[in-house]
Amino acid sequence: MDFWIFGRRRIKRTPRKQTAEIDELMKQAKKVIPERVAFFAPLVGVVPGRIAIRCQKTRWGSCSAKGNLNFNCLLMLAPPEVMDSVVVHELCHLKQMNHSKKFYDEVLRVMPDYRTRQKWLKEHGAELLKHAY
Ligand SMILES: [Zn+2]
Repeated sequence: MDFWIFGRRRIKRTPRKQTAEIDELMKQAKKVIPERVAFFAPLVGVVPGRIAIRCQKTRWGSCSAKGNLNFNCLLMLAPPEVMDSVVVHELCHLKQMNHSKKFYDEVLRVMPDYRTRQKWLKEHGAELLKHAY
């Protein structure tokens, strides 16, 4: 019985990325994500403020009332098209600070297959977020 519990714990434990690996992801993200923001911002029709990259446990991205954007460096572990969908999501918040129908109309105008891309994040995202400190 004890063995079973022990075994179960071992299975549930997710190996975390080492600090050096996270540093590398941060470095990559600071280069790649602003490029993707610069690509999609004119398509959305917005001018974003500052872009910050963090390593967060709970969020892929966020947007402040001042128009500053935050992105999670762990997006570098997701497929590029999934990362792009998070970029478009946050950029669209610069037009609509909510998740209303208007907001999603805007997202789908720029990225018609947005929901397919987000499906990947719903299925695999939690596993990636476990790498955050
Ligand atoms: Zn949102």
